[in-house]
Amino acid sequence: MTDLSAFNRFTSELKEQEQVMPVLFIGHGSPMNGIEDNEFSRRWTQMAKEIPAPAAVLVVSAHWFSKGTRITAMDFPPTIHDFGGFPQDLFDVQYPAPGNALLAKETAALIHSSPVEMSHDWGLDHGAWTVVRHMYPEANIPVLQLSIDYTKGPQYHYELAKELQTLRKKGVLIIGSGNMVHNLRMVAWDKMDEPGYGYDWALKMNDTFKQLISDGDHKPLIRYEGFGREGQLAIPTPEHYLPLLYTLGLKKDKDEIAFFNDKAVAGSLTMTSVKIG
Ligand code: ZN
Repeated sequence: MTDLSAFNRFTSELKEQEQVMPVLFIGHGSPMNGIEDNEFSRRWTQMAKEIPAPAAVLVVSAHWFSKGTRITAMDFPPTIHDFGGFPQDLFDVQYPAPGNALLAKETAALIHSSPVEMSHDWGLDHGAWTVVRHMYPEANIPVLQLSIDYTKGPQYHYELAKELQTLRKKGVLIIGSGNMVHNLRMVAWDKMDEPGYGYDWALKMNDTFKQLISDGDHKPLIRYEGFGREGQLAIPTPEHYLPLLYTLGLKKDKDEIAFFNDKAVAGSLTMTSVKIG
């Protein structure tokens, strides 16, 4: 039986709170991080202890690309095993966190740049559950997902994120889950077990991203085509990068920036994550 106390607490408490929730961008990397106790997953667990307990979690995952914007609106979102070629242990994982249809409606109402469709046919994909189960293992906090509209450009996503700002004041933890540098075609499979190994271009782009994020200089990050060849290697396709723009769009002037899991893996990926606020 899932504990619904958090769910009930939320539905009766949609008021602004004193503390504004931080926003996280999390580099999720391999689905195996969902069941491994490693330096990355341990940091996710630790992060949950360092920030206020959320009333709900809203994840923008690289793995939910849709035509139009959708939000999960079911009471119990299923755990989606959207990958292949991994051990049965990973497929056996269930993360039975509740959803929250009321919050889904509220969130949709905040978004004026696009109609938002209530989704009853998604759930929690591995961009969400492999991370959140380490943060909130009791699965007693409602978790929702907001999809990324693949017909829209980066500026649109950055602006849409701003419309979610109110949620931070209501105890909702917004997580963008992707990877800043993510090139699966160039993965160094023989270096999988050597965290820290990154190609020169991957390390350089990681530094560039961090510098611009620290400086609050978001324009080049939004117009990422301007990064040239190294940028194309780091972002060959946009899905793992766009969740970063959702978190940056939510940054307020006074929010502090802190990086964690700042490491390359397998040459062409970075786990580098950001806490905003
Ligand atoms: Zn992924």
